[in-house]
Amino acid sequence: MNARIMDGSALAREMRTEWRLRAERLSRIGMRPGLAVVIVGENPASAIYVRNKARACDEIGIHSEIHAFPERAGQDEVVRRIDELNRNPAIHGILVQLPLPRHYASDAILAAIAMEKDVDGFHPCNVGALVLGSAALWPCTPHGVMRMLEKYGIPIEGRHAVVVGRSNIVGKPVALMLLQRGATVTICTSKTPDLAGHAQRADILVVAAGRARLITADMVKAGATVVDVGINRLPDGRLVGDVDFEEVREKAGHITPVPGGVGPMTITMLLCNTIEAAERAHAARTASVQRSSC
Ligand code: NAD
Repeated sequence: MNARIMDGSALAREMRTEWRLRAERLSRIGMRPGLAVVIVGENPASAIYVRNKARACDEIGIHSEIHAFPERAGQDEVVRRIDELNRNPAIHGILVQLPLPRHYASDAILAAIAMEKDVDGFHPCNVGALVLGSAALWPCTPHGVMRMLEKYGIPIEGRHAVVVGRSNIVGKPVALMLLQRGATVTICTSKTPDLAGHAQRADILVVAAGRARLITADMVKAGATVVDVGINRLPDGRLVGDVDFEEVREKAGHITPVPGGVGPMTITMLLCNTIEAAERAHAARTASVQRSSC
């Protein structure tokens, strides 16, 4: 069997066309969605990610601003800027590019972002809302994974999902989202003694370990859906995922490639979250005007 490829690039293009219209609608009523990206230090990979985000905003009609701080800037200075952005009505989404330099307390900085502008979904209140299954801004990569499963009609309720990795940005939130949709969820980590045994029982296998080709064909159930979140650069410069794509595609029912799978969905979900945050801000403003005119 040859698995059906879940094409994240195509889905991202399709979604961006739809969301561009939503951004245009907001701009027409004087509420152009705005995203502020805060970056601290000189991490070259982070600088590339931030530039890509700004370019993607531009393409879809979102205003974007980059707030760059040198590594020596104090945490207070960064938090003060986040406070200003929280109060700025032209900004609907605030994102702090991670990782921050070691001497910064990432948790405190993320918690300084107003919950309704937290388009990365990392604020403790948004994480809490995800745990409770209530409406929230969802973290972009796991949200992108869920949209891909939806798009390809993968049944989730009653299925066994195995998530490899338990990070706060991918593993844990994707496990919660799958649980919320009725899957039976197993989470594996680097300490799990029998990764293969768990993976073999998965109807849906989501891999976010950051280990090149960790998952081989013998670890996958025939017909399973395999979502590869990992991005690893090999010594020869090639990018590969955590799944041995060529082997596993022969056995799986559906599979995401790397590159071109989950990656393009991550930035797309950031754009969607920013536009959604602007729509909510507009709805809140309209409701308050109506209340005050009563
Ligand atoms: P992380 O290092 O924070 O977490 C990795 C997790 O994998 C840990 O919980 C660890 O216990 C687990 N793990 C490591 N080795 C394992 C093993 N041998 N068996 C089982 N579990 C193992 O990483 P992260 O931030 O969650 O990112 C994971 C991967 O996803 C990385 O390759 C990263 O580059 C990629 N990523 C991709 C996107 C995207 O947009 N496609 C977004 C975020 C992260």
